[in-house]
Amino acid sequence: MSPTGELIVPDEPIIPYIEGDGTGVDIWPAAQLVMDAAAKKHGKNIAWREVLAGEKAFKETGSWLPDETVEAFRDLLIGIKGPLTTPIGGGIRSLNVALRQILDLYVCLRPVRWFQGVPSPVLHPEKVDMVIFRENTEDVYIGLEFEQGSPQAVQLIEYLHDQFGWEIRKDSGIGVKPISETGSKRLIRAALNYAVSRGRKSVTMVHKGNIQKYTEGAFRNWGYELVREEFADTAVGWDDCGGKPGDKVLVKDAIADITLQQVLTRPEEFDVIATMNLNGDYLSDALAAQVGGIGIAPGGNINYVTGHGIFEATHGTAPKYAGQDKVNPGSVLLSGVMMFEHLGWNDAAANIVSALERTIADKVVTYDFARLMEGATEVKCSEFASAIVDRL
Ligand code: NAP
Repeated sequence: MSPTGELIVPDEPIIPYIEGDGTGVDIWPAAQLVMDAAAKKHGKNIAWREVLAGEKAFKETGSWLPDETVEAFRDLLIGIKGPLTTPIGGGIRSLNVALRQILDLYVCLRPVRWFQGVPSPVLHPEKVDMVIFRENTEDVYIGLEFEQGSPQAVQLIEYLHDQFGWEIRKDSGIGVKPISETGSKRLIRAALNYAVSRGRKSVTMVHKGNIQKYTEGAFRNWGYELVREEFADTAVGWDDCGGKPGDKVLVKDAIADITLQQVLTRPEEFDVIATMNLNGDYLSDALAAQVGGIGIAPGGNINYVTGHGIFEATHGTAPKYAGQDKVNPGSVLLSGVMMFEHLGWNDAAANIVSALERTIADKVVTYDFARLMEGATEVKCSEFASAIVDRL
């Protein structure tokens, strides 16, 4: 990072990668082939460094997430990963969550757009072009919960009754939902910076503030406050402009349940979305389904202050297909595209996207699309990658 917070990227950066469990052995080499070809075409080169996590790490080192892996991501700033098995009964809740927490990757970035020819369950998938900024470190996801009947749950229920007069059923499990001003503002700031720098039209803050006033409602209020405090020249809240932002980015808000309807019925009204962890989880997957689903949904986990970023396939390890050279490498490949954009390699990124679009338009696709498309040529995972390289 430069002293002013810009990423300084050499022409041959060292990029750590985790191949991933299950179908990682199929999709990773396929995606790597395309990324290398596109980088080379645009005068760049990637010095890949494999780091271990998940089953491969456990077999080779006895640890699911070796310290060297975390250190590589910490030192080299930007990396990419395939899907990882969540170890059951181990000390780590989820390797993905662990990496996000250790590096404080507070933004989960999920762009959702349709590619020409991809089978979709909606009539107008081309109207979907949204970018979700999901808060990654707070909300009910922090895992502060007590089981029903445990001494802690009983004690907490009694305490809440004695101190605040709160009536909670004695046979309840109890969880905590923290939403902070710090966490909310840094997430919304990242969404606003993205919208302003990329010429997007609006940022919608999605929340359940009508019910959860001091958590989700506060998120919304802090967002509008931030616009006035830091973005007065480039963005404006709905109430401060009557919905007429001029050439500024319009900042508005929407209740989460209605949003889940409207992203279906009026997708063109949504552009950049900023939301908390749980809403963001639901929204990302619902939107991914509208544009062709899990095989091509990319994601990134980013800390815009430190510059750390880990880009990742958003689907799981699909163990039943592992090693068959069958599944769609699109999710990890498009995560690579996001990584290229993050590095400032926009030409190479755009080149991959247009080659992928042409491959799908030519109906050369993996099984998941082939089963939904008429007249498609079904190809293997590796063949799909080669077909994209041919069209670069
Ligand atoms: P999954 O691995 O995402 O697979 C569910 C289904 O999604 C597959 O059966 C397949 O559908 C489709 N799918 C997945 N990857 C695909 C691809 N590359 N191309 C085309 N279709 C694809 O979910 P899961 O079976 O629930 O989870 C398996 C393991 O993955 C678990 O250990 C879970 O913890 C882990 N996981 C990891 C991550 C991550 O690392 N980011 C995320 C989620 C889950 P069809 O059967 O219809 O063909």
